[in-house]
Amino acid sequence: MKQSVSHYDVIIVGASVGGCTAAILFARQGLRVALLERHQDINAYKKVCTHYLQPNAVPTLQRLGLADEIEAAGAIRNGGQAWTRWGWLGAGARKDGKSYGYSIRREVLDPILRRHAAATPGVDFRPGTTLRELVYVNNRIAGIRAEGPDRQQLELRAQLVVGADGRNSRTAELAGVPSQVKTNNRFMYFAYFRNLTLATGQRNQVWYLEPEVAYALPNDDGLTLLACALPKSKLAEFKQDVPGNFIRFFDRLPNGPNLRAVEQVSEVLGMLDIALISRRPIAPGLALVGDAAVAPDPVWGQGIGWAIQAAEWLVEAAAEALVEAHPEKLDQALERYRQQQQAAFGGRFVRDADFAQVRPFNLFERLMYSAAVRDPGLGQYTGPHTTRLAHIRHFPPFKAIIRALWVNLTHREQPSGSLPRQRRRLPAG
Ligand SMILES: Cc1cc2nc3c(=O)[nH]c(=O)nc-3n(C[C@H](O)[C@H](O)[C@H](O)COP(=O)(O)OP(=O)(O)OC[C@H]3O[C@@H](n4cnc5c(N)ncnc54)[C@H](O)[C@@H]3O)c2cc1C
Repeated sequence: MKQSVSHYDVIIVGASVGGCTAAILFARQGLRVALLERHQDINAYKKVCTHYLQPNAVPTLQRLGLADEIEAAGAIRNGGQAWTRWGWLGAGARKDGKSYGYSIRREVLDPILRRHAAATPGVDFRPGTTLRELVYVNNRIAGIRAEGPDRQQLELRAQLVVGADGRNSRTAELAGVPSQVKTNNRFMYFAYFRNLTLATGQRNQVWYLEPEVAYALPNDDGLTLLACALPKSKLAEFKQDVPGNFIRFFDRLPNGPNLRAVEQVSEVLGMLDIALISRRPIAPGLALVGDAAVAPDPVWGQGIGWAIQAAEWLVEAAAEALVEAHPEKLDQALERYRQQQQAAFGGRFVRDADFAQVRPFNLFERLMYSAAVRDPGLGQYTGPHTTRLAHIRHFPPFKAIIRALWVNLTHREQPSGSLPRQRRRLPAG
């Protein structure tokens, strides 16, 4: 039987944060978009996530018209506070409230985004549809073959195929784009709790224990996610009693949460292999966004923000060429998109890959963090660094180094109002 072929301007594979953002913004430019998602259920969501959206995602969420809706659904405007061996650092949210991220579970966020995308005029949302093959015409990707609900075989054609299908991107694999994979020498476990009180109220807490990292992340619906990332050398021991070791780990944290009177509402979930992946994000007729292009180390909680931001950059770069249906212009636009991604994320990927090898803080980090604990003014430099919002070229500026040296040389005391300083007690793995 002859297969019917459907025509669009853009085909997007994957309806999660990156794919939905791109679909909405492309369709707003008057383009016809097919948005494919292998899950049939519109409420499907990414289960392995710690749910903090960095401030860089917020302006795009506002432009999508979704900020109010996710706040109404319980998203917490949030920043964080980071424990270091010298004391606590502020991070992420400024006191004036002008810069904040969001804490909202993917169970809530993903369906909101997907429903919004599905309801956007110009978007043909196709749930239960899985990419199988790419279609090439004259060495250029010109469409896809997919399997729809009830094993229906589909062929779709478009000027541009967007792979937004996550860290194990099948789109990237089929296109054979060059990729870099860096080992992550940490594994992660997490669990959800109710009625958990944190010393920082609703602000996120992160502990940099060198080399372990721990998190307490308050979310919507009164739930707090606790997570820990430990060196793989401790995995075998940790696995002998995951629930017990998880609780013991948090019990021994400096300024850690009190887990005695709280309700644990999930089992302890884990992700044991979290390699960092970076792929060339373009090929003729193809662009990758989100984790398909760069899957960073989750210890920095930045993947959602990167996916949302990159989706917007792609639309900004490519929409005009797509409206004009001009392949050469589209290739130039995709190259601009590639350069923008590389400039923004390339250096951060290298820095993340280095930290993922499980090293203690380097000289600059020690200098800056120890000084910022004593001088909160330095937080404007260390905050963007601990959240990985700062570009690698921007850290640390010369004047900040001088100031940090001065603060450390004069041994200024820790400011009042910060959380009490505690001696470091390394949690057992
Ligand atoms: C342990 C852990 C914790 C994390 N915590 C945070 C955090 O706190 N903050 C943060 O910003 N980031 C975090 N991240 C990263 C974040 O989850 C990802 O960066 C983000 O989800 C990437 O979004 P995406 O849209 O690119 O892809 P994904 O969210 O992975 O979505 C891909 C979509 O494509 C669909 N799909 C896949 N293959 C196909 C196919 N063949 N056909 C059709 N559809 C397909 C999938 O079903 C899915 O809906 C964490 C990651 C991990 C592993």
